[in-house]
Amino acid sequence: MERQGKEQKGRGNDFRKTAKNGRAQKLNTEEPRAATGQGKEATGPGGLYRIQYNRKRCIGCGACAELAPERWIMNEKDGKAILLHGRGQGHIFRSTVADLNRPPEDRICPASAIQVQD
Ligand code: SF4
Repeated sequence: MERQGKEQKGRGNDFRKTAKNGRAQKLNTEEPRAATGQGKEATGPGGLYRIQYNRKRCIGCGACAELAPERWIMNEKDGKAILLHGRGQGHIFRSTVADLNRPPEDRICPASAIQVQD
């Protein structure tokens, strides 16, 4: 009898924990909906972006490396940018990045060497 009582007590606690977790999940699922509805102009919920870099066009200003050092570094030899994790042939390099915000490098590159696609 006592054992059954303890088990029931334990089950009750688990149930309460589950109920609390269920509430927390409900709240979490509602937040992105609200954010999506509000922020059409802003950044959105994030996603995958394709970056294409034309190294031939780069004039070596360093703006991309300054703005997004996690994606760009400057080559000390020729002074041009290097797209980290970029793959490609010749002077065209591509990389796919997962980010909350759209990478802004294409807007700041004065030589139009960077293109970003959703
Ligand atoms: S912003 Fe454009 S021009 Fe400047 S270093 Fe980067 S790729 Fe080259």
